[in-house]
Amino acid sequence: AVLCGTLTGAVPVLAKDAEKYTNTDFAMDTVVSETLYTTGDDLNTEIGNKLREIESGLLSWTDEDSQISKLNAAAGETTEVSDELAGYLAKIEQLAGDSDGAFDPTLGKVIRLWNIDGEDPHVPEASELDALLKDVGYQKVTLDGNKVTLAKDTTLDLGAVGKGIGCGVISEFLKDQILNLGGSSVFAYGQKPDDSPWKVAVSDPRDTEGEYLGAITIEGGEFLSTSGDYEKYFMEDGKRYHHILDPKTGYPVWNGLTSVTIICDQGYLADGLSTACFVLGMDAAKPLLEKYDAEAVFVDEGKNVYVTSGLMDKFELMKDGYIVNEL
Ligand code: AMP
Ligand code: MG
Repeated sequence: AVLCGTLTGAVPVLAKDAEKYTNTDFAMDTVVSETLYTTGDDLNTEIGNKLREIESGLLSWTDEDSQISKLNAAAGETTEVSDELAGYLAKIEQLAGDSDGAFDPTLGKVIRLWNIDGEDPHVPEASELDALLKDVGYQKVTLDGNKVTLAKDTTLDLGAVGKGIGCGVISEFLKDQILNLGGSSVFAYGQKPDDSPWKVAVSDPRDTEGEYLGAITIEGGEFLSTSGDYEKYFMEDGKRYHHILDPKTGYPVWNGLTSVTIICDQGYLADGLSTACFVLGMDAAKPLLEKYDAEAVFVDEGKNVYVTSGLMDKFELMKDGYIVNEL
């Protein structure tokens, strides 16, 4: 999941009357919280509408009219998609390859089988999982410009990057919006009126209702995304069945990690990398982080927090019992 809004606030510097607006909304199956500094226009409604538009037009697997739904329905055949979706799919396939398939956009049917958002989530039969795994694999997506071919029976699910895509779109919108507002006057992007830094809270994976684990300072233009085993899960026989799946087995990833937070310069990438790095584990994630010039915070079950060197002085521990280590 990604925090929207906390990552881009903007204000024309000359405007003395910039005010802080906060809002929460519901879109893309999640709570959207926004903190904006503007001179007045109500951007909140428009942001909510834009996110819902991305969901229903592009990414949703339940809404039959979304492009992803249409692609899935046409698996086995070639479908033409919008430039926008073609662009995302190309980047997503690249990330899938770069992460050696740890991030895999074709887990659709396996994700539906676990149905972790459903009424009564339970552990599926191993044989059911095995049967579906044969249709999983990012290589089963063929891209040729705007023409996309899914192998027969393969189903896309872009849940691991959807919120990041949403953040990217909104940040572009805010840029435009500020340009319109500010006209030719001095224009600052991603800075609060009083120059204080943006701080984003990081949840304690084992105490999500309690105090935050820590806070990360980010700069204007940066995106932050967290993947955690506490976001969607159920317990059965003392085991935590959560929503981040290992594409090789179809089962949740149990590697000792409880959350991974990524900071980088693009929305889809922060989101995709958080999922990928959770699956890969810390050691295997390192080269991927370097390749994409991303910073990360890993939290494990032993209450260790591992922070990449570029983030060490931007991460602030707020909770007792955890130990911070440089990665
Ligand atoms: P995130 O919270 O960004 O890590 O996204 C997790 C969501 O992505 C899950 O709820 C699934 O819909 C989907 N997903 C789970 N495991 C994977 C994976 N290994 N690769 C891609 N998508 C996944
Ligand atoms: Mg993700």
